[in-house]
This record gives sequence, C-alpha cells and structure tokens, in this order.
Amino acid sequence: MSTSSNSEHPGVPAQPTLTSSMAQRISQIQARMAAACARVGRDPAEVTLLPVSKTFDAGAIREAIALGFTRFGENRMQEVAQKAPLLEDCNINWVVIGHLQTNKAKEVARYASELQSLDRIDLAEALERRLQLEGRSIDVLVQVKTSTEETKSGLEPAGLVPFLRQLSQYPSLRVKGLMTMAVLSDDPIAVRKCFSQLRQLREQAQQEGIAGVSLERLSMGMSGDFELAIEEGSTEIRVGSAIFGSRTAPA
Ligand SMILES: *Cc1c(COP(=O)(O)O)cnc(C)c1O
Repeated sequence: MSTSSNSEHPGVPAQPTLTSSMAQRISQIQARMAAACARVGRDPAEVTLLPVSKTFDAGAIREAIALGFTRFGENRMQEVAQKAPLLEDCNINWVVIGHLQTNKAKEVARYASELQSLDRIDLAEALERRLQLEGRSIDVLVQVKTSTEETKSGLEPAGLVPFLRQLSQYPSLRVKGLMTMAVLSDDPIAVRKCFSQLRQLREQAQQEGIAGVSLERLSMGMSGDFELAIEEGSTEIRVGSAIFGSRTAPA
C-alpha cells in the first residue's frame, strides 16, 4: 500500500479524506441547527434531530445508536419489518414518516412508536383497531399538505380542524402535532412559505381548543431545508442524507 504523506506534517495524509465520519456530519448539522436557532432567538434545546435511516442498513443504524440516537425515521413498513429483528437488542423507537396504505396498519401497530404521516380517517380507524389488538398506543402527527405539488401527500389545510376533532374518537392515537414536507424548490421564499403555513395552521387549530389534542410539535425540515424550517418554528427536523450519505436505492 502506498501512502503519500504531507511534507509539512510527516505521517499526515496529503489528501483530506473524501467522506467525513458520521460523528463529524452530525456535529456539523448540530452546529447549523444552533446557528439557525440563534438567528431567530430560539433555544436549541427546542429542536430535535430525527435521523432518517430509510434505505440504510442495520450497520449504519448501529453507528448512529453509538452516537446517542434511539429514534429512527423510516418510510416503508416492509423495510422496518426487515431491520427491526436485526436490531432487537437496541430498543429503537421506529418513527414512520412515509405515506401509508391502510393495509399497513398492522405493521405500524406492531413496530412503530410513532407515526408522523397520518392524513386520513380510514387510516386512523385501521390503526385504532390494530393498536387495540396489540394493547398499545402511539404518538401521531398529522401530515398537512403545504405545497401544491401533486406528488406530496397530506391533508388539505382546510380540512385540518375537522380532522383533528374526529381524531378524538381514537384513544390509541395520541395527537402531538403536525408534520409537513415543503415544496422541492431552489427558491427559499417558496420553501419558507410551506413552513410558515404549518405554524399558522397550528396556531389556528390551537385556538379551537380541541379536546385530547396537543399540537406542541411541528415536524418540518429535511437535509436540504432544515435551517429555514427551524427559523419558522420547527421542533423536529427529519434528516437522512446529511447524516447517512446519499441514497442510491429508490426512497
Ligand atoms: C426521506 C425523508 C426525509 C429525509 O430526507 P433527506 O433529504 O435525506 O434528509 C424526511 N422526511 C420524509 C417524509 C422523508 O421521506
């Protein structure tokens, strides 16, 4: 093996390593989170980092566990069902963040500690039934569609308050807040508008004072837009590629 060394610092490689370690990537993200909080006078302790491990294997998840994480975001139940048995010793809290077909309610009730993509009553109904069978309850966030892109799922904003009222019929679903995905755009004004809309929807819904519904949490912001989301009030950013690297398999 040939190693080129740095002439000023013998023994130190001349080339910087191409990939930084996961620990370095996470500490860079945390520094950017803190800077975004500072710009708007928020306490960094108000914002949680949720690693999104979809498409990454159990080894990558173990690496993140060693750095202190216990919750992991996944968007396909099939993938959770594959990974969970390999990580049984880790006490992971699986957080489901992707659009769900109603026939996946059984897997959610079995594996998930939390669902951030609740967007319709038939799914709530199916989850309630399955959770009662399992004797469990889970935290849920209601996913709201704040962008006009056809591909984005979520509840239409106008339907939010009636939907939250209906959710009080499902005692196994503990409503904790709202989630959104911003428009995929290079225009920060358009992206920011999605996040500020979610915050305003939360304020409107809170004024309704719906029984059994707490809306403390706003899950918004991903690798490409989390700083804008934090400036607009996010309490939780969902970060995949900036932690684990770029995804080659389709997400
Ligand atoms: C994949 C995914 C993320 C993370 O995306 P990155 O750009 O890799 O950070 C966040 N939220 C949802 C709903 C996702 O599906």
